[in-house]
Amino acid sequence: MRLRINTARRRAQESYLRQQRFVNDVSHELRTPLTIIRGYVDLLEACGTSDPEIFKEAVTSIKTSAQNMQNLVESLLFLARADDGDQPLTKVPVDLDELLKRFVEAYRSPRVEISKLTHCRILGDGEFLKKMFAAFVDNAIRYSPPATPVKIELTTVDNFALLQIIDRGIGIAKEDCGKIFDRFYRTDKARTKTEGNETSVGLGLAVAKWIADNHDIEISVKSKPGEGSTFTLKIPTI
Ligand code: ADP
Repeated sequence: MRLRINTARRRAQESYLRQQRFVNDVSHELRTPLTIIRGYVDLLEACGTSDPEIFKEAVTSIKTSAQNMQNLVESLLFLARADDGDQPLTKVPVDLDELLKRFVEAYRSPRVEISKLTHCRILGDGEFLKKMFAAFVDNAIRYSPPATPVKIELTTVDNFALLQIIDRGIGIAKEDCGKIFDRFYRTDKARTKTEGNETSVGLGLAVAKWIADNHDIEISVKSKPGEGSTFTLKIPTI
């Protein structure tokens, strides 16, 4: 009896701590864009709109900060619904090569190229799968130098499709590779790189992982700091 009470008490404590950490993380992530918006609004109030350069800088920064807050809220809503079991997937047979081609066309970045494309068919929800691709490709772009390409390769082995997203960016230290799928986790290098222009909040891979788990997709990461990263998705074919 005492054991059961202790276990219940420990669980309640853990849940409370998790909630507290979550509120801390969200508050922390919202504080930066809100401070930037407040700062530029104060500046515009003091200087007026007569200086076109200041005006342009203010509008750009306010827009980026608002976009970041919107991304944060959208990812939080996605994960909250996922936790509640309220994120219904509609799985149908999908030609993965076609879906990838359409995704890359819509992504509209000259840096993203498909270097191998093998025909294969999987069972999945196209919209969710595209959201998952976007998380990996956004990161590959964000964490690599502007001129370097991001390659996508689709091959097949046995009854699986292997989708690789390859970048030549800052890479990820070995000890971080297992943590990057945790909510709000960002490596120190990534924090420094995006400082002041925070386009990352550390939720993209948590969302991608949820989508992968719900499609029985295995994710693996190979990375070398300073050389780049390769994310491989092993997807069951039909
Ligand atoms: P974020 O919004 O910060 O990019 P993610 O959940 O997508 O959040 O990624 C978590 C962290 O994993 C990033 O902050 C970064 O430290 C690391 N990361 C993910 N993808 C890459 C990559 N391709 N190259 C280097 N670091 C990466």
